[in-house]
Amino acid sequence: MTIVRDSFYINGEWVRATSAETLEVTTSGTGELYATVPVGTVDEANLAVEAAAQAFTAWANTSPKERGEFLLRISEKLAERGDDIALDIAHEVGMPLMLAKGIQAGLPTATFADNAQRAMDFVWEEEVGNSTLVREPAGVVACITPWNYPLHQIANKVAAALAAGCTVVVKPSEVAPINAFMLADIIHEVGLPKGVFNLVTGLGPVVGEAIVAHPKTDMVSFTGSTRAGKRVMQIAAEMVKRVSLELGGKSANIILEDADLARAVGDGVFKCYLNSGQTCSALTRMVVPRSKLSEVEDLAIAAATGLAPADPVTGASLLGPLVSAAQQQRVRDYITKGIDEGARLILGGVTPPEGLEKGYYVAPTIFSDVTNDMTIAQEEIFGPVLSIIPYDTEEEAVAIANDSNYGLAGGVWAGSDEKAFEVARKIRTGQVEINGGAFNIVAPFGGYKQSGIGRELGRYGFEEFLEVKAIQHN
Ligand code: NAD
Repeated sequence: MTIVRDSFYINGEWVRATSAETLEVTTSGTGELYATVPVGTVDEANLAVEAAAQAFTAWANTSPKERGEFLLRISEKLAERGDDIALDIAHEVGMPLMLAKGIQAGLPTATFADNAQRAMDFVWEEEVGNSTLVREPAGVVACITPWNYPLHQIANKVAAALAAGCTVVVKPSEVAPINAFMLADIIHEVGLPKGVFNLVTGLGPVVGEAIVAHPKTDMVSFTGSTRAGKRVMQIAAEMVKRVSLELGGKSANIILEDADLARAVGDGVFKCYLNSGQTCSALTRMVVPRSKLSEVEDLAIAAATGLAPADPVTGASLLGPLVSAAQQQRVRDYITKGIDEGARLILGGVTPPEGLEKGYYVAPTIFSDVTNDMTIAQEEIFGPVLSIIPYDTEEEAVAIANDSNYGLAGGVWAGSDEKAFEVARKIRTGQVEINGGAFNIVAPFGGYKQSGIGRELGRYGFEEFLEVKAIQHN
């Protein structure tokens, strides 16, 4: 049965959309219609910003404890509904259910709880010489999010903004918006004061641009493509609005001579393919010693072959389909480009995996002998496509890693953590994992260069939503 959402959440109520136009959301694993959501207008976007502006002063003046208690209640309800959220995202995005529960439902639950505690523990004032420094919420925040980790990306913004005392207007992705409605349902149930959280769905250039441009929006927190991020920043610049951008990536995974090759390659393949490669911090460039190239190729093929895609809801694989037909086509075009530019295809290709002709599947694909100037080494593919790039010296490996317009994440594998740490310091990215170090939900996440501005998660992510005021005294 198709899910139908026909209203926006504005000023504490569900408000019926004025336009009959809808966006269709499909099940990634089958291509069937899954849900429809309304297409918002500029007027509806403006209404939502007005509601957030109206609610701001009262919300900003609540105590951190009161805000924290609301966030904890939201976290508890997200936990209660973890199975439903995971199932929804397995449909909308295509992440296999067994991973979606921990990642797609689990991360937002933890992020709301973390920001609840953060608001309560934060030192809101400090003395510097004859000044008292007071931290204050930035104001009304436009939160614009993509589809790949849809609720996680919403939570990174909304939980931190609300904890800081800001009010928000959320414009989720057109492709995976249902989870945002599930969050709005929860927020309504916990009785958050009206206007503090608002949700409007629709097109980026219409609803997104309207909430960014509105004079009462103080700050924009955007996650998505570098292309759209640049546009958002241009619009925000007109009124010198505070902007936080989480954009694309093309992260390198440097494997040094003395690394445990089997572990490094197996882990690297998985971290390239997680969520079918639709992860902004995916380790898509495996940078390996030329002397070990053929050994690496064999290990990578073995690891990737073990990740045969299957239906994300009913299947038993860790790899599912891509999010949409458009994304599937985009990835196939990149594979063709890789072949045309002379990279050596050693696994996969443009033909869909056998027996999976209906959904948006792409076979696990590996290119070897990739040079860093090739399109597949420079542009974000957002599919299960690994590029293996050989190097001759450690300096060259670091240079390859840094030769990118992006600077989001990276990895280093070495015989010792000390050595990996030394190389990690040379990589110009916001995160680096060494010897398979795990994702940390309270570590700052964000990019150097064209991967963005600002950080999300943990203390740094929270402070993005705060202004600082200095009050001089005698
Ligand atoms: P996208 O840029 O197409 O869309 C993201 C959001 O921006 C959507 O809600 C969209 O409606 C909106 N948007 C589009 N044009 C807009 C405009 N002109 N004004 C205002 N809003 C606009 O990106 P996507 O395809 O949904 O997501 C994939 C991209 O997101 C990838 O490039 C990926 O790397 C990036 N991403 C980055 C991070 C990170 O934290 N760095 C995390 C996840 C995804």
